[in-house]
Amino acid sequence: MAGREKCAVFGVRSDKPVFESIYYALYSMQHRGQEAAGIATYNSGINLHRDEGLVCEVFKGVFLEGNAGVGHVRYSTSGSSDVENAQPLVINYAKGSFALAHNGNLVNTEELKHQMESRGSVFITTSDTEIIAQLIAQEHLRLGDFIEGVKQAVNQLKGSYSLVILKGDNIIAVRDPWAFKPLVLGKLDDSFYVASESCALDAVNAELVRDVRAGEIVVIGDTLQSYRTRKERKCHCMFEYVYFARPDSVIDGVSVYGVRRKLGEILAREAPAEADLVVAVPDSGITAAIGYSRASGILYGEGLIKNRYFGRTFILPKQAERDVGVRIKLNPIRSEIKGKKLVLVDDSIVRGTTVKRIINLLRDFGAAEVHVRVSCPPVKNPCYYGIDMQTPEEFIAQKKGVEDIRKEIGADSLAYNTIDSLVEAIGLPAENLCLACVNGSYPIKEEQLKLNV
Ligand code: SF4
Repeated sequence: MAGREKCAVFGVRSDKPVFESIYYALYSMQHRGQEAAGIATYNSGINLHRDEGLVCEVFKGVFLEGNAGVGHVRYSTSGSSDVENAQPLVINYAKGSFALAHNGNLVNTEELKHQMESRGSVFITTSDTEIIAQLIAQEHLRLGDFIEGVKQAVNQLKGSYSLVILKGDNIIAVRDPWAFKPLVLGKLDDSFYVASESCALDAVNAELVRDVRAGEIVVIGDTLQSYRTRKERKCHCMFEYVYFARPDSVIDGVSVYGVRRKLGEILAREAPAEADLVVAVPDSGITAAIGYSRASGILYGEGLIKNRYFGRTFILPKQAERDVGVRIKLNPIRSEIKGKKLVLVDDSIVRGTTVKRIINLLRDFGAAEVHVRVSCPPVKNPCYYGIDMQTPEEFIAQKKGVEDIRKEIGADSLAYNTIDSLVEAIGLPAENLCLACVNGSYPIKEEQLKLNV
């Protein structure tokens, strides 16, 4: 499958130039993708600038005119990370043009592509986004109305998609009917915004109005309009709360920070340890470590210092880059950890290689014991909805039980939160969460079948 992505999207319509606010919003969501960035604005035509690199690199010395625009930051797996796949994507067709940015991953890409190619479509990129864009253009041509075209096009999509579209000076935001990926609506004076995370609204001083609803199309024009697509069971990605989103974001009414702290508190309750100090794997383990410390009464301290000028190890595309990454990225503070029994809190263990190296480092720097506590239950199954966890072989918990993993990573003890604890910490009904990577129950049936063959 091409274009497995975890990205961020942003859109704004205002009575003032919007380039700067899109820039700041993308900057605030850089954690969701560091390989490419792009902005499209409308000023009696679409202006587009996109390239590989961080937001600050891509837009150095750039300004795009216009009072409406969309933006995107991109993460992709290797093989599809060239600039043609950077977004927004601009489509020119018989009824004009539009720009589209997409966060998510479709699971019926091949089927759709095959159908469209048999009708004469030619694809330039390897991304799902182009399929969505061409489908929208075709349906617009067929039905004569753009919003009807969007509605009909997205009804054919299966998988995760949070979309922002720039058509003329209107912004159209679409959230898939499962609502896998976050998408929020914000407002400041007469300007309306849509963003993957509410932290982007904070960055532009806008107020969070609400989440875009599952299967909703929001049109930000002279007025705000809302349309419904089809209905499915809501399945918000639990990994957004555990790892991906920024802790200062609020997703589907739930504070990410609150969830992470609670995950740590529950771990302290369910898996206590005799220790002198709680330390986190920074940054994503910090909030849970604070929760663990508060609930256990064991002091929290900084045992590992992160080089903040380095991208996230987990989302670097190649294994070799990951290997080098851990060593450059984290350094223990000898005076803090020497001779101490540590509780090391991490958000999740996927391959187990990172935590193993960290434990080795802590021991090299004098830690007496390392007790690992993990917020997320064991990750065992691939994600088909846009998170870069692709093959079961990648997951240490696929082949090994907790005790074998403990031995493999070299911890003195190891405990994970249970799925019930995870659901308790998020506080939403379990049936409204996607938990597939931890329980194998895929919201869209095709993935269940794939796993069973
Ligand atoms: S499979 Fe896991 S990572 Fe993927 S959408 Fe579901 S909960 Fe999120």
